[in-house]
Amino acid sequence: MKMKLAISALALIASTAAPAAALSDAIQADMPQLMALYRDLHANPELSIQEYRTPAKLAPEMRKLGFAVTEKVGKTGLVAVMKNGPGPVLMLRADMDALPVKEQTGLPFASKVMGKLPDGTDTPVMHACGHDTHITSWLATARRLAAMKDQWSGTLVMILQSGEETGEGARAMLTEGLYTRFPKPSYVLAFHDSAILPAGVIGVTPGYTTASVDNVDILVRGVGGHGATPQATKDPIVLGSRIVMALQTLVSREKNPLDPAVVTVGSFQAGTKHNVIPDEAKLQLTVRTYKPEVRKLLLDGIARIARGEAIAAGVPDNRVPVVTIREEQHTPATFNTEKLANRELALFGQHFGKDRTTILPPLMVGEDVGRYWLDDPTVEGTLFWVGGVPKAKWDAAGGDTTKLPSLHSPFWAPDAPTVILTGTEALTIAALDILKKS
Ligand SMILES: [Zn+2]
Ligand SMILES: [Zn+2]
Repeated sequence: MKMKLAISALALIASTAAPAAALSDAIQADMPQLMALYRDLHANPELSIQEYRTPAKLAPEMRKLGFAVTEKVGKTGLVAVMKNGPGPVLMLRADMDALPVKEQTGLPFASKVMGKLPDGTDTPVMHACGHDTHITSWLATARRLAAMKDQWSGTLVMILQSGEETGEGARAMLTEGLYTRFPKPSYVLAFHDSAILPAGVIGVTPGYTTASVDNVDILVRGVGGHGATPQATKDPIVLGSRIVMALQTLVSREKNPLDPAVVTVGSFQAGTKHNVIPDEAKLQLTVRTYKPEVRKLLLDGIARIARGEAIAAGVPDNRVPVVTIREEQHTPATFNTEKLANRELALFGQHFGKDRTTILPPLMVGEDVGRYWLDDPTVEGTLFWVGGVPKAKWDAAGGDTTKLPSLHSPFWAPDAPTVILTGTEALTIAALDILKKS
């Protein structure tokens, strides 16, 4: 019995260790080309739903590898399919949009690109969320899996998604037939670079990993007039302030303290002059939760508080606040299905070692990747994190990430080679595991 165990343990080492080193070597050999692509993508970022150059650059690369490529799925998204015998359908997703941020990293390939927001405003553009590392790893993974076709069986669907930052892209791809025009996956995997993990460390969160995000507008209407005669007005600035303060009680008093949630009023605009009481004030809120029932509680509460405070302030019935939930901008929470998340956690722990694999607590940021499996319990999905903080910076900050640039910061400069190498290796071994030959 003992003997048998020893042999099977040896066999296991022989079967995993050698290919692991070979895989890492193969990606390393590809790194000069991959880094050239990364620097090019970084220097040429594109805003959400304006990603034209990026998919046009990647499409021929994927065709060369033998993928059937369809462009312009979900606005500017790209779908690449490789059918390779019987087996499950696995979808690997990378997002490709950048942000209206003026890059200040000082990198030699820093972006100098200017873009236009949907309202026509000019803005600098930067890959401040690191989606350029995702795209590069996505292509690198496609190359490895195409080269290792004899080692897996099944169907690989690889997508480049547009408009992640605006919460539109995943929905657009699904509405435009991702699951009807192309093979529907049983498994979905994606990774995001992380500004709270040291470079090369993988974080997985079984269960909720990112939050549900809602944008809510409140138009507070009053009755304007002279600043010296408040008795003849209904001051929307005072009413708006009461609403802002009352909203704080939603999180502190109305919901279960064990359910995480955020209500932030990020914008409060009103008035033009010292001595004029304006007609209206505009509030913009971000509302973040995990559970749908907590989301409903908060959204209902916001409408109730806005109306109730207006009544308390004596605003006429025809001037009560208008509360608009921007459904088209909603991002649902991403729930990593536990079976798949735990499978990846075990796989990464075995492959990269325990010191490079960690369970990360859930975050309050939004990511729309969860949409790909939200409505179908038969689809398993996981979004994992790949640490991007350069080691020297991590050590200098003593691991205190509040001292380091976050995602979306103009200073966010991940250790791109390490993210790309780790992300590619992780996606490749996960794909080989899911699509292993029976
Ligand atoms: Zn982002
Ligand atoms: Zn992102």
